[in-house]
Amino acid sequence: MNTLVWKVDKYVDNLENNPHVVDAANLLRENEVVALPTETVYGLGGNAENDEAVAKIFAAKGRPVDNPLIIHIADKEQLSRFVDEVPLVAKKLMDAFWPGPLTIIFKRKAGVLSELATAGLETVAVRMPDHPVALALLKKCGLPIAAPSANSSGKPSPTNAGHVIDDLNGKIAGVLDGGATGVGVESTVVDCTEPVPVILRPGGVTKEELEAVVGEVRVDAALTNEGAKPKAPGMKYRHYAPNAPLFMVSGTTAFLQSLIEEKQREGLRVGVLTTEENVGAYHADLVLVCGKRAALETVATALYETLRQFNKGNVDIIYSEIFPNTGVGYAIMNRLQKAAGNKLITE
Ligand code: AMP
Ligand code: MG
Repeated sequence: MNTLVWKVDKYVDNLENNPHVVDAANLLRENEVVALPTETVYGLGGNAENDEAVAKIFAAKGRPVDNPLIIHIADKEQLSRFVDEVPLVAKKLMDAFWPGPLTIIFKRKAGVLSELATAGLETVAVRMPDHPVALALLKKCGLPIAAPSANSSGKPSPTNAGHVIDDLNGKIAGVLDGGATGVGVESTVVDCTEPVPVILRPGGVTKEELEAVVGEVRVDAALTNEGAKPKAPGMKYRHYAPNAPLFMVSGTTAFLQSLIEEKQREGLRVGVLTTEENVGAYHADLVLVCGKRAALETVATALYETLRQFNKGNVDIIYSEIFPNTGVGYAIMNRLQKAAGNKLITE
């Protein structure tokens, strides 16, 4: 299959009638799959009501079939097609954070969405992305669109159209190239089927921001206890991994530098993931700056691009600094832990 790349300027008016957006919307209606920019990462979209389209998403990504997809909508009214009841806390969260990087789990109506998209669960994950190209495409095709991140399963999520092409060229109908995404980590997934909302995956909206709107918010036990079974099926998989083994390092820059030197003495090429503040402290084969510690959102924005760059740099081992677990740091650390398979070296 020839994968088309359609460049679209997200700042122009009337995006719904942009010829590339129209082409992509037509392909979605024909049950083909296309990649689209969102404010978090690029998504791989397909008609959520059609098994054939959803099967193409799983096949292109090589995604395990027990991992359900997030359904993307352009307006709140679309929800009533596949959700009967919107609990009050969900309504408050939708009003506060949609469009935006917050996915809400609802009980779903039977018989509307593809069972593949929801992995046979009685619930459904839904979000409204805050990106003009995504919203224009969703409006134009008029369908609920299932869209996981547009990477090969297990790889770092794509934050620009080039990453999508690196992973999925020849496997999908096309990619709408709307430039680099902003938030850089995926949406926060919050289960609103319980009286107190539960975070199943940390992401672009922080726990603190959720609590400011709805009061108490819990965190799925699996996020703090490795042994617990996660309620979001996808959270059990290793994810986001660069090709070389990645180790998180807790300690001083001098300690991390000593680890680098030890591996270099063994003849290995060593990569380091650091920040603007600490870059001067390391001498390694590849030192990559992933944003600024003083502004953690810049670390989130750069994280997946940085992990992908290590693959191009042919390193044998990667050491990463760690980050505070508050605000968006919670999502950053969750992704780093997955990328590292939880390997942590403490001084
Ligand atoms: P991705 O599409 O790669 O951003 O991942 C979506 C995340 O949402 C995965 O961790 C899924 O397991 C999770 N998810 C999707 N639908 C549900 C659902 N109905 N219940 C719980 N988690 C879900
Ligand atoms: Mg993903």
